[in-house]
Amino acid sequence: MVFKRILIANRGEIAVRIIRACQEMGIETVAVYSEADRTALHPALADRAVCIGPAAPAESYLRGEKIIAAALAQGAAAIHPGYGFLSESAAFAQQVQAAGLVFIGPDPAAMATMGSKTSARARMQTAGVPVVPGYEGGGSPAEYQSAARRLGYPLLVKAAAGGGGKGMRLVEEEAELPLALAAAEREAQHAFGDGQIYLEKYLAAPRHIEFQILADRHGHTIHLYERECSIQRRHQKIIEESPSPFLAMSRDRSLRQRMGATAIAAAQAVNYVNAGTVEFLVDGSGNFYFLEMNTRLQVEHPITESVLGLDLVKAQIRIAAGEPLPYRQADISQHGHAIECRIYAEDPAQGFLPSTGKLLRIEVPLGPQVRVDTGIMTGMEITRYYDPLIAKLIVRGENRADALQKMAWALSHYTILGPATNITFLQHILDQPEFQAGQATTQFIEGLLAGHDWPPPSTPVSDQVLIAAAVAQFMEHGGARPANGAVTPTEGDAFNPWYKADDFRLGSG
Ligand code: ADP
Repeated sequence: MVFKRILIANRGEIAVRIIRACQEMGIETVAVYSEADRTALHPALADRAVCIGPAAPAESYLRGEKIIAAALAQGAAAIHPGYGFLSESAAFAQQVQAAGLVFIGPDPAAMATMGSKTSARARMQTAGVPVVPGYEGGGSPAEYQSAARRLGYPLLVKAAAGGGGKGMRLVEEEAELPLALAAAEREAQHAFGDGQIYLEKYLAAPRHIEFQILADRHGHTIHLYERECSIQRRHQKIIEESPSPFLAMSRDRSLRQRMGATAIAAAQAVNYVNAGTVEFLVDGSGNFYFLEMNTRLQVEHPITESVLGLDLVKAQIRIAAGEPLPYRQADISQHGHAIECRIYAEDPAQGFLPSTGKLLRIEVPLGPQVRVDTGIMTGMEITRYYDPLIAKLIVRGENRADALQKMAWALSHYTILGPATNITFLQHILDQPEFQAGQATTQFIEGLLAGHDWPPPSTPVSDQVLIAAAVAQFMEHGGARPANGAVTPTEGDAFNPWYKADDFRLGSG
């Protein structure tokens, strides 16, 4: 057995995903949870669960010392960080190792180099990996100005410590530069505690194509092919697919192979071990540029699992335990086509405002090659404390057309009653000819939202679903009604179907 017991330093769907892999491998699990997650799925599924503090991440999921103490107290041998939270903290990885535990991820030194976009760019250039033309020399506004002139406009001011699309400013012309520099620096300092910024040439309508890497401690590094993540809103991915439609349609038959080899070179340049992702931007002519390396499991990892038929979390655990990779590059090939849609608790009709509240009813699509990775269940509360990503819907088809049909079916059979979700928005994207043709670039969503198509009229929820939710709610209140016959609405719960008794009657309409 690789490890007897593993602690999962995360929450939500990814904690559930990792617990499941451990269960299949016969490894015991320790969950950590905040006070807001007392009734969440991950502490319920794990063999053991430890409360590590209040709801705010800074007081719980980001408290490395509490998590390490929990691991030691519970006899866990290793910690899996998931994604987000502490997963890319080299300091945390180091503390885990210093405590005599195994960090399921790369070495802290590789994390530190790749964790700063400027040091990563420098290392990549030394290794001969093409990076987006840029300037990371720092200096006075005048020095930035002359560097910007050399690069040409438009350009991006980016945060060295950036992530999640934060701290990025588009500068279209020279007059905007001084303000953008100051604003990006402030934003970076505020978001990451590190105000270091740099300039990057802004590529017009590129594709985001990333390569999954696996590397063991025995000198083997392989790539697991690509994922295309061009469908983004505010630089955040919404829909991902593998294989990349761009690479599939490219006339340059060697492009995929060259990008894969470059991704391996990028990983090897920092002695990378475990799973990681090398992100590239690709322009219309097929020139590709290193963007960054994510030194952790990626949100969109399931599509790679679907087309390759393997389990990345299990691979991570085995590599961390010191096992050699069980496959060579030649053993890996893509089969079929996989698509992932990220389901967010947010309201597209309200500017994508995160939506909170109780989940009254969930209907999950089930069928051949349909996978749902989620951490939510009926009755749970979506709070404002955490990321609004509540589920990932993944389908695999024989080919892209088949996968698109399957995704359309699955989205139309996914019901989440309670907080608003982006499901109708995802359906709207799937309906677009440009997306269907595999032509969408990272500019696609912006163009879509600038048009007059959105928001489309909201799809009414079926009576059946409403009735089921009402019954569930009724049962939860013990079937008891106040003497006047009204059901007391839960305070502030606008989604409670009993809230407005006049608008909602069993059997009406
Ligand atoms: P973060 O780490 O904040 O996610 P990235 O550097 O990975 O930021 O970029 C996120 C997205 O922003 C990319 O996928 C792309 O859509 C856009 N982007 C980043 N850099 C550039 C660039 N130089 N030119 C055009 N688009 C860019």
